[in-house]
Amino acid sequence: MQVCPTNAISINSELGTKVVDESLCVGCKVCTMACPYGTINYNTRSGKVTKCDLCGGDPKCAEACPTDAITYGVAQ
Ligand code: SF4
Ligand code: SF4
Repeated sequence: MQVCPTNAISINSELGTKVVDESLCVGCKVCTMACPYGTINYNTRSGKVTKCDLCGGDPKCAEACPTDAITYGVAQ
């Protein structure tokens, strides 16, 4: 967030996730270098970056996993 020159990354206050506003992203990739976890990736087709946004609170990966290896919930 701090490294983004266009303030394209913000926090979803409801879910606590960081989200990318593609209309503001200029594809400079600085955030991909800054993130120590490698969670932001450059999309060569769009020329923008993308990251998990928890599907708006309804993670499709958890729904699709055939072995229920992915669960979504608040850590206790
Ligand atoms: S790639 Fe996009 S989101 Fe990332 S730092 Fe550059 S403008 Fe911001
Ligand atoms: S499918 Fe899973 S990894 Fe992909 S955006 Fe949704 S929650 Fe994130």
